[in-house]
Amino acid sequence: MTTLNGVPVSPGRAAGVVVTMPAAVPEPPLARLPVGSDLDAAVASIDAAAQVVTADLFDRAGRATGTAADVLAVTAAMAADPTLAADAARRVRVDGETPARAVWDAAQTVIEQLEGLGGHMAERARDVRDVRDRIVAELTGQRPPGVPEPGHAFVLVAHDLAPADTATLDPETTLALVTESGGPTSHTAILARALGIPAVVAVAGAGELADGETVLVDGGRGTVERDPAPEAVAAAAERRHAHRSFEGEGHTADGVHVELLANVADTGSAAAAAAAGAEGIGLFRTEFLFLGRPEEPSVAEQTAAYRGVLDAFAGRKVVVRTLDAGADKPLPFLPADGERNPALGVRGLRTAVAHPDVLERQLEAISAAARGADAQVWVMAPMVSTPDEATRFAERCAAHGLTQPGVMVEVPAAALEARWLLERAMFASLGTNDLTQYAMAADRELGALAELSTAWQPAVLRLVAATCEGARAAGERPVGVCGEAAGDPALAPVLVGLGVTSLSMAPAALGDVAAVLAATSSARCRELAALALGARDAWAARKAVRAALPELEELGL
Ligand code: PEP
Ligand code: MG
Repeated sequence: MTTLNGVPVSPGRAAGVVVTMPAAVPEPPLARLPVGSDLDAAVASIDAAAQVVTADLFDRAGRATGTAADVLAVTAAMAADPTLAADAARRVRVDGETPARAVWDAAQTVIEQLEGLGGHMAERARDVRDVRDRIVAELTGQRPPGVPEPGHAFVLVAHDLAPADTATLDPETTLALVTESGGPTSHTAILARALGIPAVVAVAGAGELADGETVLVDGGRGTVERDPAPEAVAAAAERRHAHRSFEGEGHTADGVHVELLANVADTGSAAAAAAAGAEGIGLFRTEFLFLGRPEEPSVAEQTAAYRGVLDAFAGRKVVVRTLDAGADKPLPFLPADGERNPALGVRGLRTAVAHPDVLERQLEAISAAARGADAQVWVMAPMVSTPDEATRFAERCAAHGLTQPGVMVEVPAAALEARWLLERAMFASLGTNDLTQYAMAADRELGALAELSTAWQPAVLRLVAATCEGARAAGERPVGVCGEAAGDPALAPVLVGLGVTSLSMAPAALGDVAAVLAATSSARCRELAALALGARDAWAARKAVRAALPELEELGL
């Protein structure tokens, strides 16, 4: 038995047969068809391949749900568009290109056009590449790109996953996820946690795992065991079916209430969060209503969308985050004008300086939705850096009758100066994904920096502690965590020990976090926090806390 090590990003243990992601479809050679070739047959093969791909994608879209169904339906519609096949046919007949090469070149023209248009259109180029690769694979007898469907449950092993691939993961058949690349707060990790799929990223040697071998993945420890003992495989299978549910309220072993909340993006995910028993919503990412839209949604449309989420949590707390545009979430109607460092640019609340009207309309819509709903509506701004920004935001909220304004603490300066930010803002919510990115100067999407990009870094935990101290000095303001760290069952008691009063996470993580807190007294949470703060690096902090918290192992985490 050998064990590969990586970065744990989604807890849980699962054993199963490895299925590897197919290799990227290589660019077909520039070869021409031999003189005298049957051009009609060559053209017909392109049409037939496009039809097979379209039918397969529509079939998969029909069986998928939610985001996966949408992603697949968009790709299928693109494969069904005759323009690509027509241009490829012309290249076969006029230039004598092979069918695979003709499809490749025809797609390249479309990709360049889309990328030239920029913004949302440029993102469509990825779909064209996907369609291109599927048709070329069909023409040349290769495995189609994307998550395989072997007809049984499996452990997916990949170099990294594209967003379109992660969106199609099925938690029923994907037992666990192992990637050679990827960071702890990358979209792959966030989605794996949202789906409750155990996952380990940045695994050295993952490329050696072969189709058909059995592995045991531990998403809490970050290990992948090759050829595990049959008893360990059986124990993991048993646990998988015993999904830990959550109901009621989060408490430490000595009865201190720690609010366990959910992160949502729309009405659908809010309904799922309510079904999972979340006490409320700690982060409503409103930008998902705006993404991919050429224009800002009207106040009426925004009001209806917010209202849907508020209604799913009648009588409970819903923290609505105002638009977090810029950097990795560009919006066509808030152009960033050629920034060279978008993560350090005009993003989050900063966009409100040049476009105050967009924030005003959003606050108007939130206020209108809140008036007709029963939920307790809190509103917070992303990427707040200074006390003045916090004060101005609180004033704008007040002008709209929103009485619980808050700030996200995602910038180290905000953590260190929390006391002043919380003079007017009523609460803080730590966005540990960005806070880690900025504290460690490590792009959160970059797999090569996975060891830096974790909230287990003692420097990040010190910023969490500083925020809690500032909040106490400002008059016992509540401090939540809504970054991915909140859903890590080993880190959750540490955050509580540092002074955090609520944790907001993917609904699938609620049961595990509740179980760990229920087994840990608040005094022990403080001891664990001291252990983590005193460690010399992230690896040592995680190891020290796990060693001092054997309950994690007993809970299978
Ligand atoms: C964060 O940065 O931790 C956060 C919750 O915001 P997002 O992941 O949406 O940037
Ligand atoms: Mg953030």
